[in-house]
Amino acid sequence: MVRDIAQLGDGILNGERRALARAITLIESGRADHRSDAEALLQHVQSANRQALRIGLSGTPGVGKSTFIETFGMMLIGLGLRVAVLAVDPSSTRSGGSILGDKTRMEHLSRERNAFIRPSPSQNHLGGVARRTREAVALCEAASFDVVLIETVGVGQSETVVSELCDLFLLLLAPAGGDELQGVKRGIMEMADMILVNKADGDLKSAATRTCADYAGALRLLRKRSQDPDGYPCAKLVSAIEQNGLQEAWQAIQTLITWRRDNSHWEARRAGQAAYWFDQEVRSALLAQLNTSDVKQQMADLAAQVSAGEVSPTAAAARLLDGLKAR
Ligand code: GDP
Repeated sequence: MVRDIAQLGDGILNGERRALARAITLIESGRADHRSDAEALLQHVQSANRQALRIGLSGTPGVGKSTFIETFGMMLIGLGLRVAVLAVDPSSTRSGGSILGDKTRMEHLSRERNAFIRPSPSQNHLGGVARRTREAVALCEAASFDVVLIETVGVGQSETVVSELCDLFLLLLAPAGGDELQGVKRGIMEMADMILVNKADGDLKSAATRTCADYAGALRLLRKRSQDPDGYPCAKLVSAIEQNGLQEAWQAIQTLITWRRDNSHWEARRAGQAAYWFDQEVRSALLAQLNTSDVKQQMADLAAQVSAGEVSPTAAAARLLDGLKAR
């Protein structure tokens, strides 16, 4: 291993935030030589075998994610914990680049010695969002963070990535205007271990209370999962601004996690996730094989022959795959 990489790895294991930031930049790089360094680095830090509590947090823009992370994160730091915040943003082509690009959104937290905030990269690099985030989580764990918050905007795809990465998934909602559930997709509801209805303060308090009761009812209708104790998944009220309900939410998180640890669900979940990511890596490596210029050319040629009726789709596919195997 390159000496630099070993040094960087040691810096991470010593909990140095600058080393962690540099390492995340390395794993985000699309360069092939950086990739091999990144893999050596991950191998180096993995030996420490440290685990953090990984919390996924999702919610549509405006529900108060950054405000919540700021005050919730500060509360955790007050309890003596080290907190890392990462963002998953597959749609990072949006203007301004990243959802966490502006650290002033978490003004206090970003100044804390025991916090680490990483904006999502402003463009999609090779290797994909999922791998990059997964590796960043592993680096934060190696750097002895106790809690890793993985934030995502509620746009569907990214929730799957986050739920396969975290020990616990929180869905943040704002009070609804009417009676209706706010178009939260069933799939996302099913991933949630806890729904937090934010902005339960001032004029919004009664609407928040109603929304919370609606969601609590909706959660009760979902199929009970073996990894949940009685009363979970649950819905709770919080006010990120007034800092109400945050301790209760943390308490509920700990109750759930302790139960899962005591009943072997924690390990089972992580083992299942590791298998899921292995499967994904194999699939994406296979797809990458189709993405080289000569294979693309071969596919185009075969597609033309298929369109012209000269060869059947099945036979053409078999020919292409035989060609790949022979490489
Ligand atoms: P994000 O887009 O999900 O990160 O949401 P922000 O944290 O940027 O918050 C969006 C808006 O909601 C801002 O104007 C916040 O001040 C406001 N907000 C956030 N949390 C609360 C809360 O607990 N109560 C109230 N009343 N407003 C809040």
